[in-house]
Amino acid sequence: MRMGTRHKYDALFQYGQKGNSLVHVSDVENGLKCNCTCPKCNEMLIAHNAGRKKTKHFQHQSLKECNGVYETVLHLLAKEVIQEQGYLLVPDVEFTLPESADNYATSSAISPIEKRTFRKVKFDQIEVERSTESIRPDIVATVNGKQLLIEIAVTHFVDDEKRRRIMAERSPAIEIDLSREDRIIDKSQIRTILSAPGEKVQWIHNPKIDDKRKSQLQVGRAIQEFVGANGRAIKIYGKNRHVYNCPINEKLIDKFEKISIYDACYHCRYFVNEYELFGEMGDTPPRFRPRMLNCIGHVTDEYKKLLKSSGVKLSEGRFWIGG
Ligand code: SF4
Ligand SMILES: [Zn+2]
Repeated sequence: MRMGTRHKYDALFQYGQKGNSLVHVSDVENGLKCNCTCPKCNEMLIAHNAGRKKTKHFQHQSLKECNGVYETVLHLLAKEVIQEQGYLLVPDVEFTLPESADNYATSSAISPIEKRTFRKVKFDQIEVERSTESIRPDIVATVNGKQLLIEIAVTHFVDDEKRRRIMAERSPAIEIDLSREDRIIDKSQIRTILSAPGEKVQWIHNPKIDDKRKSQLQVGRAIQEFVGANGRAIKIYGKNRHVYNCPINEKLIDKFEKISIYDACYHCRYFVNEYELFGEMGDTPPRFRPRMLNCIGHVTDEYKKLLKSSGVKLSEGRFWIGG
């Protein structure tokens, strides 16, 4: 674009820098008397806010195009909004573990189930561009005497090195993703975005949430060990996959002698897994290759106790069998 031609967004360049804050073009004097500078390059600005027809806007004194000014304005406006509102809605995560034993029939780590909620975090103090031990985030907020780092991403996201330093400091840090927002957004739109729960606010690092996840992983391992140590093999018969010696058989409603794994075991929280028996089948191989199931139905009370003490809520309904 040639010097002096108008940027397609010039008509919407509506925030200039005056002192330490951004001012809207409607709130300043017309022309150079506005006494504003460009938030990006510091050049003097001309305010065009008189006359009815023209959309009010700022223009650089040299009429130059200023690359990145919209991103800078968005970034600064977001910072101002956070300072003014004094709070943010941040994600919180609760972890739970599954209750059915089949989830623990694996050698890999159990993934806790994540439930995301949002909570309003009010700031006792907000400092802009203050350095911490090793980084300089956009905002350092203080919450109950502890610091919370806030980064606003418009064009630059926190990179691996910065993430590493944040983690080394063990400082909770969040990133607000405004990269997909319209560059000519106004302050009230940013207020709306920042006061609603959503995906735009993400934790870069949160030691408390990480600790909760770690502790659930440990509990998951303990349950895994219990299931691994207590699994008992039971033979499965025939096409209908019947089991004759279910350890909780006497608790079944109709007191069937046999149960079908389709009707019972697959709905039982004590079912661990099922497998085919390989090996020599003799001269007359059976019509159905023998299968086995592995279950912890003989240690139901211990298992339920372990789940309860691990904070796992026992459901009803699906697990009709065995209580
Ligand atoms: S998995 Fe449940 S229903 Fe099946 S045999 Fe074991 S205890 Fe009985
Ligand atoms: Zn500029």
